[in-house]
Amino acid sequence: MIAIIGGGISGLAAAWYLSKAGTPSILIDKNPHLGGVIQTSSWEGCVLEGGPDSFLAVKPEAAQLGRELGMGEELIASNDDRRLTYIWKNKRMITMPDGMMMMIPTKIAPVVTTPLLSWGTKIRMGLEYFRRPRGPQPERSVSDFISEHYGQETVDYLAEPLLSGVYGGDPRALSVNAVLGRFVDMETKYGSLTRAALEARKKMPPSSEPLFRTYKHGLGSFTGALERAIAPHTRVIRGEVEAIEPGWRLRVNGEWIAADKLIIATPAYSAAALLAPLDTELSRLLDTVDYSSSLTIALVFRPGRLPDPSGFGFLVPKKERRTLMAGTWVQNKFPHRAPDGYVILRGFIGGAAAKEMIDLPDDVIYDAVYRDIGTMLGIRVKADHQRITRWRRSMAQYTIGHTHRIAQAEQRVKSLNGLYLAGNAYSGIGISDCIRTGRIAAESCLR
Ligand SMILES: Cc1cc2nc3c(=O)[nH]c(=O)nc-3n(C[C@H](O)[C@H](O)[C@H](O)COP(=O)(O)OP(=O)(O)OC[C@H]3O[C@@H](n4cnc5c(N)ncnc54)[C@H](O)[C@@H]3O)c2cc1C
Repeated sequence: MIAIIGGGISGLAAAWYLSKAGTPSILIDKNPHLGGVIQTSSWEGCVLEGGPDSFLAVKPEAAQLGRELGMGEELIASNDDRRLTYIWKNKRMITMPDGMMMMIPTKIAPVVTTPLLSWGTKIRMGLEYFRRPRGPQPERSVSDFISEHYGQETVDYLAEPLLSGVYGGDPRALSVNAVLGRFVDMETKYGSLTRAALEARKKMPPSSEPLFRTYKHGLGSFTGALERAIAPHTRVIRGEVEAIEPGWRLRVNGEWIAADKLIIATPAYSAAALLAPLDTELSRLLDTVDYSSSLTIALVFRPGRLPDPSGFGFLVPKKERRTLMAGTWVQNKFPHRAPDGYVILRGFIGGAAAKEMIDLPDDVIYDAVYRDIGTMLGIRVKADHQRITRWRRSMAQYTIGHTHRIAQAEQRVKSLNGLYLAGNAYSGIGISDCIRTGRIAAESCLR
């Protein structure tokens, strides 16, 4: 028997790939609801995601798994015709220049004309094209890396807001090797990121692939389908694993369960606590993975309450931030998720603001959010429906040294026979990354 601790997308994926091979398992989660941070609700036909809302189309695992579950028809793409992102600077919303590959400029005219960046930064961006390769460089923070290439303003007004939306973290602490490994490879080969991006474009012109994909009725429908699909081979236990012993024995709700193999698919700090009596060094290494907290706020406006907003949404750089870090216009990004005329703003609070606000009452949080959208978007009306979802320590932060520490942890895991780890702490925090870790853990168990 194989036991899986954690019924988020990582643990569910592990259970699915075991199930597909006809192998029984036990899946244990302390929450009554499976799916972990994936949490979908609806209101008047609007799909509201409390946690993640979509996955990157270039990473295939989440779409592939959906197809295996018979959900291919439910897959929807982001409406990239309306893909404009605004950045709040100097009391106004400025469109992100066209042709940016995250913070790498690939078109001249939009960068030259944008009011987002000063002339100093624009000139620096142009000169970056002439950088030569300097051989492998020591690990740097995202902030140091981007600032070396394009200057501090690019960190403040592009890298920081773009990465905050994904990690809710601080680019001065995040490791560029762990978070933007592809950029490091580009630098090693070409010296210049811009030249590397242009070369890549020449070899592979931009495809018609959408940027994001998701499931029409919400990611909760995906985890719900997974839960049903694993049922024939999986016993689900609702309870907290309080202790584990090698061999393997797990104490859940005061009772001991025996398993031949064990997959731990919880946040790293939970895995660290469970593994501390078995291997203190492994536990220490896992505990070095920091997690940030965040909140999402859904504001739904019935038809006619707001003028049609433009673009996918907006980002608020730390330098200009009061509460909101980002906002998405759901009906523009995924039109299938809102009936005609409804406007849904999905707000995201992360970083220091999340730390301060997560324990505050709802009304204090709404006041701060309405103050922000009043200032930034001129919205003075209250939503017809609103909800806050709080996520404590949910987003893994890959800080400097992450890759090395995880490689060390993996070595130690190998010496604990029959133990496998999955989840967002190791090699990517996106949904597809998590599914991949769950699948690899299941395949390793089956081997
Ligand atoms: C607000 C937010 C927005 C995001 N947006 C996106 C997005 O748009 N696209 C994207 O690709 N990614 C996004 N992410 C990241 C992605 O959603 C997560 O990294 C991923 O879903 C994590 O899945 P997981 O199964 O590894 O962990 P979790 O979902 O955290 O699940 C871990 C599970 O382990 C259980 N558990 C922990 N300890 C124990 C124990 N001792 N006993 C029993 N059970 C235990 C918990 O109850 C939980 O259910 C977002 C994350 C957040 C928080």
